[in-house]
Amino acid sequence: SLDEIWTPRQSLVASDRPFSPPKRIRQPEMTMTSLTNMSVGTALRPADRAATQTSGVSPPASLAELYASIVHEMNQPLAAVIANAHACQRWLSADPPNMERARLTAERIVRDANSTLDIIGALCTLFRRDRSERSAANINDVIMDVCRLMADESRTGRAEVAIELSVGLPPVLIDRVLIRQVLVNLIRNAIEALESGGQGSRRVCIRSHRVATDRLCVEVIDWGAGLDDVERVFEPFFTTKPKGMGIGLTICRSIVEAHDGRLWAQSNDPVGTRFVFTLPIRGAAQT
Ligand code: ADP
Repeated sequence: SLDEIWTPRQSLVASDRPFSPPKRIRQPEMTMTSLTNMSVGTALRPADRAATQTSGVSPPASLAELYASIVHEMNQPLAAVIANAHACQRWLSADPPNMERARLTAERIVRDANSTLDIIGALCTLFRRDRSERSAANINDVIMDVCRLMADESRTGRAEVAIELSVGLPPVLIDRVLIRQVLVNLIRNAIEALESGGQGSRRVCIRSHRVATDRLCVEVIDWGAGLDDVERVFEPFFTTKPKGMGIGLTICRSIVEAHDGRLWAQSNDPVGTRFVFTLPIRGAAQT
């Protein structure tokens, strides 16, 4: 789950803190909005906007970009912590030790470590987006939203996107922002796979259908490069792209599993890859 990705880092920072910070420079619990205001990269903004609007916005940035911007944002305070820790050691080992300087640098360490903690907290808030963010939605509407948002990207990638949606699907209880991110990531990967695929048709197909009384499923199929290992791609930091982060699919799977669904990959016949995710039908579990 996403907790597996982020909580260890959070507790690492928290438990390694030598003493309690005198005061926080920012609120520890940040909402999506304050995260946006805080400008953790620009990647979040379109996604956040997309949460309140249904059309006329640019596509949400991919999770990989989001991740990159957050890592970038965290690098600065962490580098400052290390620099100040070294300075603090020097003040303490001076002869005589300069306690006042050491105290000042220790204060800076606390401040910068807090900033990092705040960023992680914000990230957790984003990914934990509690269940109150979920509402009944028609998955086909979400798919159509994403396809509209990604129309330019598909054109640039010269991908022919076919959409095959089953009519009359029952609603699913989802966090639209997160499921939209899953779709963006899968479709973007599919388009990129066409680039490296070389031959074959430049087709991507997005399908929705019911797979059981209590589940529906969404498939993103491409006729691109294909996969050697259908499990490895979900491992964090596995990437074959020169500028890839290798975190997108890991996060996608976490989001889907947080919705009590499953996400997997399989080879498509005769070429390409099929990513499939399931979601429970709203209310089906209770009946
Ligand atoms: P990134 O796109 O940053 O590499 P992802 O986690 O989204 O990170 O994907 C990990 C890897 O999985 C990609 O680098 C690529 O090798 C492989 N992959 C993902 N989607 C596809 C696809 N549709 N076809 C072929 N390979 C894919």
